[in-house]
Amino acid sequence: MQLKTNEFSQFNVYGAGKVYKGRLPRGEDLLESMTKLVKELKIKAGHIQVLGAVRNAAIGYFNQDTTEYEYIDFNKPMEILHCTGNISLLDEEPMIHAHIILSDQDGKAYGGHLAEDTEIFVAEVILKEFIGEPKERFIDEESGLTLWKT
Ligand code: ZN
Repeated sequence: MQLKTNEFSQFNVYGAGKVYKGRLPRGEDLLESMTKLVKELKIKAGHIQVLGAVRNAAIGYFNQDTTEYEYIDFNKPMEILHCTGNISLLDEEPMIHAHIILSDQDGKAYGGHLAEDTEIFVAEVILKEFIGEPKERFIDEESGLTLWKT
């Protein structure tokens, strides 16, 4: 069903495509490896989720006042409690926007925007492909973010 209410008119409607399940290689960068997988499968719209562990991590916090990301580095092994990302296009290339929740030895959790420099120890992936018109991103001057076009 197509959404008709004005405030939701930019929503895309998809059919379910293939679902992929597997592990990413140990030692690779998490975001880079997910992106490589999605590009190899030519997935332009979809959803990805990951459970596992990392050897170290980098997460971002978007400062809404400066409109810039501030990064936090964790130089220790951590659990991936949850990592979720959406797949759309930026400059006609598949791009993953992912957030991650990590926990340390004490069970303390930290989370944020997944950045590069997050090294995989184990990454169990479930990747879902969506069938339909992919969303495209553009640089929104007002927020400083790359957002979906309406
Ligand atoms: Zn983000």
